[in-house]
Amino acid sequence: MWLLKAQITKLALAGTVTLLFASTAAWADQVTSVMTPDVQANVTPAKALTMLKDGNARFVSGNATDYDYIAQVKQTAKGQFPFATVLSCLDSRIPPEIVFDRGIGDLFVARVAGNFTNDDILGSFEFASKLAGSKLIVVMGHTECGAVKGACDAAQIGLLSTTLASINPAVTAVEGHNPRNSTNAGFVQAVSEMNVRLTMKTLRDRSVVLRQMIESGEIALVGAMYDVSTGKVTFFED
Ligand SMILES: [Zn+2]
Repeated sequence: MWLLKAQITKLALAGTVTLLFASTAAWADQVTSVMTPDVQANVTPAKALTMLKDGNARFVSGNATDYDYIAQVKQTAKGQFPFATVLSCLDSRIPPEIVFDRGIGDLFVARVAGNFTNDDILGSFEFASKLAGSKLIVVMGHTECGAVKGACDAAQIGLLSTTLASINPAVTAVEGHNPRNSTNAGFVQAVSEMNVRLTMKTLRDRSVVLRQMIESGEIALVGAMYDVSTGKVTFFED
């Protein structure tokens, strides 16, 4: 009986020690580092894309990084050196920093319902790329997009109608499909993908600064689609 009690005590102690090590390990694994000028300078457009792909893979597999955000806040207080810029939808299910498993100071992000662009967003992206050193622009649409569905149905609601009108070119550009409304999932997805491609075209056509940077290889532009049912980002590789 005494032996049994000792064994239990021993086991309990061992358990405590294990827990202590576990919590120390969790603390030690927290990422406190941030993007610096040197790190940013060594990121090519291709590497930036790989970093986003790797981050999304970590997110999807449940192995997201344990960031110490407050440590990152302190380290980025005097400057930011993000490596990529993301244009995404307003949709609450798609926070780019989370789905790409990145921390504070890593990404520039612009979000608008339907992830289209305009001169204000393009001007912001010119700042991000030309002045702040970001190496990649991602235009990211997503499945089950309410804004795209609204555009497919020609919804009329206050100023939202104006917002949705920016997606209309994609609705018109998608040929075929019947019915051509939000009840047709295939049509909605085709419009979402077309909307990403047309937004990429608008970016190149409207912004001389960004077009020149793309043509010189200083930055890259890539389209992507986020799947709200899996968390996976699929990049357009053409
Ligand atoms: Zn959306």
